[in-house]
Amino acid sequence: MSLSAELERALHYPLADQLPPRGGAIELAPGVKWVRMQLPFALDHINLWLLRDRIDGREGWTVVDTCIDHAQSRADWEQVFAQELEGLPVLRVLVTHMHPDHVGLAHWLCERWSTPAHECRLWMSGTDYQAARYACQVVNSFGGERLADYFRSHGMVNEGDLTQIRDRKSYYRSLVPALPPSYARLMDGANVTIGGLAWRCVAGYGHAPEHIALYCEQLGVLISGDMVLPRISTNVSVYEMEPEADALTLFLDSIDRYLPLPEGTLVLPSHGKPFRGLHTRIGQLHDHHRDRLDEVMDAARARPVCAYDILPVLFKRPLDLHQTTFALGEAVAHLHRLWHGGRLRRARDGEGVWRFSAA
Ligand SMILES: [Zn+2]
Repeated sequence: MSLSAELERALHYPLADQLPPRGGAIELAPGVKWVRMQLPFALDHINLWLLRDRIDGREGWTVVDTCIDHAQSRADWEQVFAQELEGLPVLRVLVTHMHPDHVGLAHWLCERWSTPAHECRLWMSGTDYQAARYACQVVNSFGGERLADYFRSHGMVNEGDLTQIRDRKSYYRSLVPALPPSYARLMDGANVTIGGLAWRCVAGYGHAPEHIALYCEQLGVLISGDMVLPRISTNVSVYEMEPEADALTLFLDSIDRYLPLPEGTLVLPSHGKPFRGLHTRIGQLHDHHRDRLDEVMDAARARPVCAYDILPVLFKRPLDLHQTTFALGEAVAHLHRLWHGGRLRRARDGEGVWRFSAA
């Protein structure tokens, strides 16, 4: 969902419209570099970070997030290695969460930079590591019969759409073909020492199973991953593996965990540009979801609604099938916050579709 340009103007972008060149980087703080890679999706880029590091007396870099595994991103990385590492190796790969654009190339980076003397290790939350390993081993990752049944139970009736979802095999595996067979676990509240500086892990929920953001007090920098984005609102969805989840409440509670950080914190988001105005942005996200929830309540007061019915309420633009799958998960998340909060009740209609009405 894109928010208005007016909201964006309330944030401060210290680099204005400057973007890192392809295969290059921009230094944002001492030892903190910004890399940007293209994605072949509607969301057409991802930001990655290089942090100057030292492990076991070895000088080098920690990479934060990896891009999906395709030929172009591998080629871009090779250029970054040649231009931006000052002749030093990548020592470790830190991943904020399991989504393909973040973890896709972790296996390749770890293999590429491991030597007999030093293993280039993946660092990630335990939940997301396990979920990613599972997702890249099963055939029906984000597709298949169960997902089609789930979407049908939320009002998707077009047989053509359902067939495409049923037939979508190995979606995750096509972007994340493998995961390193071992990892180091990131945990909420723990500090990771990177280049002699402490970076605190802040767990967040509602977007991924256990997303880890990283905050360095000394630098005044927050690597927010996908939890706080400056331009678009984070995708918050409920899917078939956890069909009763209250993902939106988890998400809104999670972003409040950044409120104790200083307003002047430089936020490094995975999409969009580095910005200042963390508290402002958190306020905007709460307002945004409150407005959407009010609109959903209005619709449900008029007649019982299913998730599919409220897609036009939440998304004012036409959606293709791929976008519809995300949008439908997000519609369920909005309905579930109101349902768990006691404002809506739900019942299955004669077709087996969940209908929500004012409680
Ligand atoms: Zn994500």
